[in-house]
Amino acid sequence: MTAPASLSVDLNALSHNFHALEALTGVPVHPVVKANAYGLGAVPVAKRLMAEGARTFFVARVNEGVALREAIGPEPTIYVLDGCVGDAAETLKAADLRPILNHADQIAAWRTANGGACGLQIDTGMNRLGFRPEDAPEPLDGLDLVMSHLACADDPAEPMNRRQRDAFAAVSARYPNALKSFANSGGCFLGPDYAFDAVRPGICLYGGGPEGRPDARLKAVATLSAEILQLRDLPAGETVGYSRGFLADTTRRIATVGAGYADGIFRSTSPKGQVWIAGELCPLLGRVSMDVIAVDVTGLDVSLGDRVELFGANRPVDDAATAAGTISYELLTSIGNRFERTYLG
Ligand SMILES: *Cc1c(COP(=O)(O)O)cnc(C)c1O
Repeated sequence: MTAPASLSVDLNALSHNFHALEALTGVPVHPVVKANAYGLGAVPVAKRLMAEGARTFFVARVNEGVALREAIGPEPTIYVLDGCVGDAAETLKAADLRPILNHADQIAAWRTANGGACGLQIDTGMNRLGFRPEDAPEPLDGLDLVMSHLACADDPAEPMNRRQRDAFAAVSARYPNALKSFANSGGCFLGPDYAFDAVRPGICLYGGGPEGRPDARLKAVATLSAEILQLRDLPAGETVGYSRGFLADTTRRIATVGAGYADGIFRSTSPKGQVWIAGELCPLLGRVSMDVIAVDVTGLDVSLGDRVELFGANRPVDDAATAAGTISYELLTSIGNRFERTYLG
């Protein structure tokens, strides 16, 4: 039986995006594969990127790092953005993970554990994780990476980008032996002086644009599709779905498609949502329910069992996210477990 709903991950497109970011920045790309590689599968994604030349990865959580190490073997360097949290030092060491140390307690815990190799985060304005520049610690043993994170990289016109970049350049110079890592996906597109020694993209590897809209330099990696479960002709005057969410003023042809909010199709997608089928973008009608959505396919040649693209090459994930009032990151990391995952390439 072929799965009625599937997530297809195009590893060749992933590889294209990886090399596009390398070419754009001129420095090594250190992929961010946190949150299961933004929902696409950290292990197959990391393995393909290793085959393309990636040697260093970032995850957020310690447990993500442990699982990744187990899967990809001892060679690649893995940094954990949360750092040395609580009593994680021994777990980090056992899996040869390098914490990004964010505050003095983390440095103390790592030192006490004789932790070894680690990174350091400087907070240049995000006010989230990391040392303020004026509190930046002395270089510590094992420090091999210093990083900071942009708050507004998706908006090239935002003057804060330059301020953060200059602050990072100044403070990171105090760590001559550490690799300097600054740019996330958006930062890769801000110009050569944002690249430093290595870049740290996530979303652009996975096909999301750096400014929240599709970018022609990147290819779609994730395609989410689901099957038409039923077709009906809706007489004028009748309604569709919960709370009579759509009222037909003319006769419509309705496809009921097997994906709903339990699959990560945001309820906020109606009324602006669209899906792609038979060469056209078709509107969602009424409310998204848990397992199904209703699609207006009036006038189209579609049959039971045909597949609707929720996002992918024909319906960019950025556009689907905008329609739902969110960002591509949230759509990808919300993809439900009921989709069968398949990998191309
Ligand atoms: C998630 C994350 C990234 C990747 O961000 P993208 O915008 O997806 O490229 C890079 N650095 C840090 C610190 C992050 O938390």
